[in-house]
Amino acid sequence: MVYFIGAGPGAVDLITVRGMELLKKADVVIYAGSLVNPELLQYTKGDCKIYNSAAMTLEEVIQVFVEAYSPEKTLVRLHTGDPSLYGAIKEQMDLLDEHGIPYSVVPGVSSFCGAAAVLNAEFTLPGVSQTVILSRMEGRTPVPAEEDLEMLASHKASMALFLSSAMLEPLSQKLIRGGYAPGTPAAIVYKATWPDQKIIRTTLEALPQSAAENHITKTALILVGGFLSSDYERSKLYDSSFSHEFRQAKTS
Ligand code: SAH
Repeated sequence: MVYFIGAGPGAVDLITVRGMELLKKADVVIYAGSLVNPELLQYTKGDCKIYNSAAMTLEEVIQVFVEAYSPEKTLVRLHTGDPSLYGAIKEQMDLLDEHGIPYSVVPGVSSFCGAAAVLNAEFTLPGVSQTVILSRMEGRTPVPAEEDLEMLASHKASMALFLSSAMLEPLSQKLIRGGYAPGTPAAIVYKATWPDQKIIRTTLEALPQSAAENHITKTALILVGGFLSSDYERSKLYDSSFSHEFRQAKTS
């Protein structure tokens, strides 16, 4: 079996228990070298074969699995964060299907959750936003025109933007043209949960300057929205005047 495992955002102990157990018994590990914490590889067995996918093509990755595959072996593809986000796992699954190799996915803590955690932030603050938009600026991978950030901005929802920290000038302009106020709170979270993590709180219009001042061009998430300020309404769920399945309201 090939296991696509989410390694989590960086800190070694943010991989899931299931992911760690599979890693410990893996016969082969192919890890995304640019973003997966290499310390995780210390947990593999002595005879585990380890490959860094940063220098490999899709076909080379699949070839390693094809050559190593046997029903009793544990083959691991270690992706950063959660594999379902910008992980290019579908194309790997389709090729494994062609070779009749079974696979399974072990989810991980995505970096957008890691970034919220280190900011002590809640994306879904009552009275502010109940929606999180996960997206990116267009790079070599095209973004469908209907999902252009300028259009997504019209919702003024909480946003987490991946793969975009080298394009903050156009990013900021698009979001402002689309509807966010220039002073909307924003944060740059570089290497969330890694030992060298950096957190920069800023505003939407000052994003490019803040990144330049801190020399950040990659491995960062950009968060934008009112959820980063302290203005919100308290949740109804814990309100003393609100009854629900498990608790009666405490009204006078
Ligand atoms: N599957 C991953 C995303 C892979 S795309 C996930 O769920 O997090 C790679 C992008 O993710 C990077 O360009 C950056 O925007 C973001 N990223 C990954 N790890 C990060 C981290 N620890 N801190 C901040 N951003 C991170």
